[in-house]
Amino acid sequence: MIKNLKEKAVTWSRIKSPWVLHYNSGSCNGCDIETLDALTPRFDIERFGVLLKGSPRHADVLLVTGAVTKQQAKRLRRVYDQMAAPKFVVAIGACACSGGVMYGCYGVLGGVDKIIPVSAYIPGCPPRPEALIDGVVKLLSTLKK
Ligand code: SF4
Repeated sequence: MIKNLKEKAVTWSRIKSPWVLHYNSGSCNGCDIETLDALTPRFDIERFGVLLKGSPRHADVLLVTGAVTKQQAKRLRRVYDQMAAPKFVVAIGACACSGGVMYGCYGVLGGVDKIIPVSAYIPGCPPRPEALIDGVVKLLSTLKK
């Protein structure tokens, strides 16, 4: 009974206050600008408890922009491994989802899911901050279940 309550409290706090880490794995910076825009007071993603952190050890959700380049693949994996479980990955933009316009380039491996498991995909080139907020909120609502 107490264990059940404890698990409920942990899930509740996880949903109400997800801490995110932003990682550029080879983006043209378009997706990064929109991601940072979503974090500004104008779009105010903090109203959902989302807080940007600077360390993978403090983050629950990894926001990845850009197709994964050969140079970034190992680093992306290392950042992901440094996050504590349970952890979630959101691929932001067409490039992070599937390689997008970078698909087939000699230095590009493909989408983020070629390297680490992805929990949510947000398509667009680049996706608007509203789409990003929608994706994060949908991810959080799946955690409730
Ligand atoms: S999806 Fe578009 S904006 Fe985002 S990294 Fe790729 S090319 Fe740039």
